[in-house]
Amino acid sequence: MKTVVLRKRTMSSDEAVRLPGLQTYQDREAVLLAPYAMRSVDSAGRKYAEPEHPYRGPFQRDRDRILHCSAYRRLSGKMQVFTGEMGDYHRTRLTHTHEVASIARTIARALQLNEDLVEALALFHDIGHPPFGHAGEDALDECLRDQGGFSHNEHALTIAEEIDVRYHGFPGLNLTREVLDGQGVRADKRNPELRPLLEVQLVDAADSITYDAHDTDDAVKLGLLSLDELVEVPLIRETLTRVNNRFSGLSPRVLRQTLVHELIDYQVSDVLRNCGRYLATASFQNAQQARRAPFCIGPSDEIASKKADLERFLYNHVYRHPQIINVREQAQSRLRKMFAGYLRRPELLPKRYLTRSDSVGLPRSVGEYIAGMTDRFCNEQFERHFA
Ligand code: MG
Repeated sequence: MKTVVLRKRTMSSDEAVRLPGLQTYQDREAVLLAPYAMRSVDSAGRKYAEPEHPYRGPFQRDRDRILHCSAYRRLSGKMQVFTGEMGDYHRTRLTHTHEVASIARTIARALQLNEDLVEALALFHDIGHPPFGHAGEDALDECLRDQGGFSHNEHALTIAEEIDVRYHGFPGLNLTREVLDGQGVRADKRNPELRPLLEVQLVDAADSITYDAHDTDDAVKLGLLSLDELVEVPLIRETLTRVNNRFSGLSPRVLRQTLVHELIDYQVSDVLRNCGRYLATASFQNAQQARRAPFCIGPSDEIASKKADLERFLYNHVYRHPQIINVREQAQSRLRKMFAGYLRRPELLPKRYLTRSDSVGLPRSVGEYIAGMTDRFCNEQFERHFA
């Protein structure tokens, strides 16, 4: 294949597709994707019409827009389960997101689903998270109770459609309908009418695989749990048995990490076994047929029930650990004071949030401003104005 040199970033779409040797994303998808995958050419498009990019497909552009938005970068300063003061080893909201994207892409590639769409959905899924994880979310939800509450999944959509203004000609990121609808399913999980694309189902499964594995890893590394305690969970006991059958004499550190790798690999293989055979024989003609089928990409019933046991155990022993409860209570009390404080003194809000309060109301605008903060910035603002 000839080397293609793209000299001008401003070339038109027509010029680009005529360049010899340049494979279009439509060509690539035609070769790589299964019939049940979502194809770029079938996208419902964007709210504000834009010309096509010469060599990046629509979902690839979504992925890039998410990657370059400030809410995404700030995930590095937002806790997943454990705060920054507890060390540098454990996951932040950003590294959690990277792990979800990586696992989701592995599954997507093996099932011949649309990797670009899957990656965009994965990188997007947590950008609406407020500081201090679910503790922060619960506090904001309570503060905004009379205004319809607060959900990080919905807030991701608000960021993408209204708050993150960075392009000429439209507010937000102007993402494709498929990415917005995919996140919409996360925001409205109890609505059985919503039939998500297989790519959306897959990211949800990858999120669960990811946090089950890394929360186990982080909790042991931080000393909140020991492996001896964890073996009472069947999924961990069986995984550990497989590891011990393959290796002997592993140091505690390597044993913990091998266990986590095996935990991920086992769950991913289970999803592929559970779904691969079905998808290969279901003869779906297209993505719309597949999304309407009474089938969901996820673990087998056996592993789903073992995952539920592990999650219950993590809830009782990690998420409700006294150290974590302390962090949770302190964070929630700060957020409540800050929310009330900004309502009393709206002049402390940045100008654009003050302006935004004209259209969405002051409480909502205050909630959105706080939701955008990193843990560090939130603590700083609290100490400065409300301590
Ligand atoms: Mg997540």
